[in-house]
Amino acid sequence: MSDDDAPSPGTPTHPALLEARARVVHDLSAAGLGSAAHVDVVDACVRERRWWLDAWPGGAEHVAGQVAQDVQEALRDGSGLAWPPCPLPHARDDVQPHVLHVLPDLGPDPHWVCEESGTATAPLGALPAAGP
Ligand SMILES: [Zn+2]
Repeated sequence: MSDDDAPSPGTPTHPALLEARARVVHDLSAAGLGSAAHVDVVDACVRERRWWLDAWPGGAEHVAGQVAQDVQEALRDGSGLAWPPCPLPHARDDVQPHVLHVLPDLGPDPHWVCEESGTATAPLGALPAAGP
């Protein structure tokens, strides 16, 4: 983890939440959305999930997928951002870009899936950087 990825003050330090944060921030950056304002959205979602882990300690392996879905919703509803855009070749012809979805909805090893083609694109936290 580089200094750029260091959590801001007040960020919870549960290892699962820190890992979730790092993975989601990576995928935001891969889509060119790694600005401080967007990372703030991630931090807010991570804080919101603290109660969830407190209530269900066994949920640690599920929390990354939950945070990713929270951030996806927050960006869509708050900023009208479609994140992450589908990087597959078939998406280039789309007038309206479509987004990837986290699967499983609730489970370990979350990954991004294009639901239009049913293709698993990358594990959460491993989206390739968007091309030119
Ligand atoms: Zn697609």
